[in-house]
Amino acid sequence: MEKKILLAKMTWQEVEEILKDTDIAVVPVGSTEQHGPALPVDNDAFIATQFAQRVAESIWDRQKVVVTPTISFGYSPHHMQFKGTITIRESTLADLIVDVCTSLEQHGFKRIILVNGHGGNSTAISNALHAMSNVVMAKIFSVNWWDLASDTIREVATRPVFHACDMETSVAWFLEQRVLEDKRVDEPGRSIVPGFVEPDMLAPPPKASAAFMMKYVTDSGVVGYSTKATKEKGQQIAEVVLERLEDFILKVARG
Ligand SMILES: [Zn+2]
Repeated sequence: MEKKILLAKMTWQEVEEILKDTDIAVVPVGSTEQHGPALPVDNDAFIATQFAQRVAESIWDRQKVVVTPTISFGYSPHHMQFKGTITIRESTLADLIVDVCTSLEQHGFKRIILVNGHGGNSTAISNALHAMSNVVMAKIFSVNWWDLASDTIREVATRPVFHACDMETSVAWFLEQRVLEDKRVDEPGRSIVPGFVEPDMLAPPPKASAAFMMKYVTDSGVVGYSTKATKEKGQQIAEVVLERLEDFILKVARG
């Protein structure tokens, strides 16, 4: 990808130059955690990065935005019984986000959009945004990519939608992630409290929540039906995510 979009590939003078055209930075946030036998541990970071870079590319002619390096470690203690997972403390992640946003603001990025790829990061991101609300003058936003297309996900994805499932594998595959096709497995996951605490983002009410280790609900690391994943389904979901992310950035730019 060209230097025009990626902050990491720009010189400081090029950053100074592009700040004359835009004050919007997009920061992908992911995780490094197990994603079952068919997907690599970078999956959440990969998807967030892909969405950020693809949207920056597609709106370039209408609105320039700069994509920063990805925050590739997230809050994943519940995955630690599976090899390869690297978790950082929730407070570390929140501090990291504050430091990145504060640095960007100091250079003149006045609008910052975090594109998050890992559900477990949500509390840290929310805490970081609250911590900055009084002291950082930049406007800072956060989106979880799946929240941008939850209606489409509900239509096309096999439930449960939870982890390394049909939905996540399909989207990753379409975005050209490394997918070990014949290692895909189906494992619907075990209930924590039947009917109340289910490993399924689309579970209907009544709902309660609990913290649990992933090993307790899944042996393979998958919760869902990854053999149902297809690139076509991934495309359906990803196109909606990209279209709405584009719309969001344009509205932030006008605001
Ligand atoms: Zn994931």
